[in-house]
Amino acid sequence: MAQPKSSLLKVILLGDGGVGKSSLMNRYVTNKFDTHLFHTIGVEFLNKELEVDGRVVTMQIWDTAGQERFRSLRTPFYRGSDCCLLTFSLDDSQSFLNLANWKKEFIYYADVKEPDSFPFVVLGNKVDVGERQVTSEEARQWCRDNGAHPYYETSAKDATNVAAAFEEAVRRVLATEDRADHLIPTDTVNLHRKPRSGTTCC
Ligand code: GDP
Repeated sequence: MAQPKSSLLKVILLGDGGVGKSSLMNRYVTNKFDTHLFHTIGVEFLNKELEVDGRVVTMQIWDTAGQERFRSLRTPFYRGSDCCLLTFSLDDSQSFLNLANWKKEFIYYADVKEPDSFPFVVLGNKVDVGERQVTSEEARQWCRDNGAHPYYETSAKDATNVAAAFEEAVRRVLATEDRADHLIPTDTVNLHRKPRSGTTCC
């Protein structure tokens, strides 16, 4: 039987330094937690092929580590993104307060024409850490007020909700005005992963 056609979809992780963006990408793509190698060699994106609701996509996940170097590269980094994962750390209220700036900056530099319908997924990372500075309700309220949802509480350390959040990002893209038609076909499809169950979205 013929393989389903794969599409390339660009997802970008944005948020303050230290909230766990590289760790989330690494956890999702390699299922490892240590990001030392990433930071050392300056990984900018990783590809992950997956199947969501019967559709095979190659998700190209862009990390924005190395904030200083990255600032001059915002336009090429942001442009062409199909989904933006706005990330903060649940044990750092300032990173939560900065989400609005990240969203605004993304809309400007990515030149998003219709921000109200653009897929933003919000990640409150480090849910494994006991002492949180941001409550689930505060985060959900921010998402409602800012048209950014769904909201996931994740842990790159113990993998809580990481796959669910990335898979939901794909779903949001595919659901947006049949954007699947705009995605770039890729030739190779060699990994079919079943969507996971038992994960929760806030
Ligand atoms: P980035 O600058 O946003 O890419 O953040 P990093 O991925 O480099 O992570 C910053 C620090 O937070 C590192 O020490 C990570 O080990 C740690 N970290 C990342 N994610 C988690 C998490 O889910 N739980 C905990 N406890 N620590 C995390």
